Amino acid sequence: MLAEIITIGDELLIGQVIDTNSAFVAKQLNKIGVSVYQITSVQDNKAHILKALKEAENNVDIIILTGGLGPTKDDITKKTIAEYFNDTLVRDASVLANIESIWKKNIRQTLLQVNKDQSLVPSKATVLMNMVGTAPGMWLEKDDKTFVSLPGVPFEMRALISNDVLPKLRVKYKCPFILHKTLVVYGLGESALAARIESWEDALPSHIKLAYLPNLGKMRLRLSAKGFDEQKIRNDVQQHIDKVLPLIEKEFFGYEDEEGNEEVVIAKQLTKLGKSLAIAESCTGGKLLHLFTAHPGASQYLKGGVVTYATQSKIDVLNIPETIIDQYSVVSAQVAEAMAQNVLQLYKSDYAIATTGNAGPTKGDSNAEVGTVFIAIATKKGVYSEQFDFGNNRSRVIGKAVNKGLEMLQK
Ligand code: ATP
Ligand code: MG
Repeated sequence: MLAEIITIGDELLIGQVIDTNSAFVAKQLNKIGVSVYQITSVQDNKAHILKALKEAENNVDIIILTGGLGPTKDDITKKTIAEYFNDTLVRDASVLANIESIWKKNIRQTLLQVNKDQSLVPSKATVLMNMVGTAPGMWLEKDDKTFVSLPGVPFEMRALISNDVLPKLRVKYKCPFILHKTLVVYGLGESALAARIESWEDALPSHIKLAYLPNLGKMRLRLSAKGFDEQKIRNDVQQHIDKVLPLIEKEFFGYEDEEGNEEVVIAKQLTKLGKSLAIAESCTGGKLLHLFTAHPGASQYLKGGVVTYATQSKIDVLNIPETIIDQYSVVSAQVAEAMAQNVLQLYKSDYAIATTGNAGPTKGDSNAEVGTVFIAIATKKGVYSEQFDFGNNRSRVIGKAVNKGLEMLQK
């Protein structure tokens, strides 16, 4: 089964908004075995949209459009689709009711005619009710081809894809369900791990595939399964995971989440162990803290943290002795370790991480080379740190420091 994604909006073509919608849709379609033949972005321009629709219809079975469903004059996707289908727009009473209720609850301004008119849909379309916004999704069919038009606002589009579009596509095109589960394992190389779980691996049924993914001292073991009964697939995979876990009891660290976010693995592990974390950041400017707090449930293990960016704030807030700073520089192992130890004490946490470095572009007060970063980990038993050289691009230095920090926390 082939699909094309068409993202619509002038803002995408002038580089003002980055098209993240198509990446999300492509990933979701891949999960049900639909391959994306082409991704196209077009302006809010009737002729261009019509041309893109025609081409896509010639190439693929499934056409997903996002954007251009707003109430303003520049949003013309709906009218254009109606024209493409030789159709007219009719009012959908349930969409109007949904718009009125969203308006009452969240907006509290006069409901204008243009807002009410978001309930106009092509008469041939099946409405996909948007529970988090006012522009409905639309599902249209032409022969055995499917056209789906969705709002451009990413979180509205995502909800409609997950709740409505994927389930409907799966039924219509008899798409399989594909599940990936990834186990993170530490302290075993690829071949040692393979030897340890050999008999388990040999007994895996043919619909469950196994992949070894080594990465910087950690191993990821990915189980993938494909089938038509989602619940059965989930149960099958879980049963086999339950059998392998006792074989890697000491080395198993946790599951990677679907996006591959390491902080989620750390978070789950800390929660499981009942341990807490505190963070002291300088050059990473709060990015580590943000990574953890971006996921719900962070308060279960994250005590808090500080961003002591200026040298004086390290003295004032974290009590780093001025003598250490004078003797070793503010970018030094000694300062990183003192930051980690002091933030551990400040928050009475079990673990702490600290970063200090020079992200550039100039040497600055610290006199440290651009790219030099020290990261320290403290526990109640002690502290250690490592020195890194992350190059001379400021945002990359910060990004690498964050990733390295996560890796050190996992150990
Ligand atoms: P609305 O009812 O909110 O007006 P809409 O369907 O008209 O929805 P657009 O006006 O095209 O959507 O886009 C709304 C916002 O969604 C844009 O300002 C943009 O920030 C974001 N957006 C649109 N398309 C994309 C895309 N392909 N990738 C990422 N963000 C997008
Ligand atoms: Mg738009």
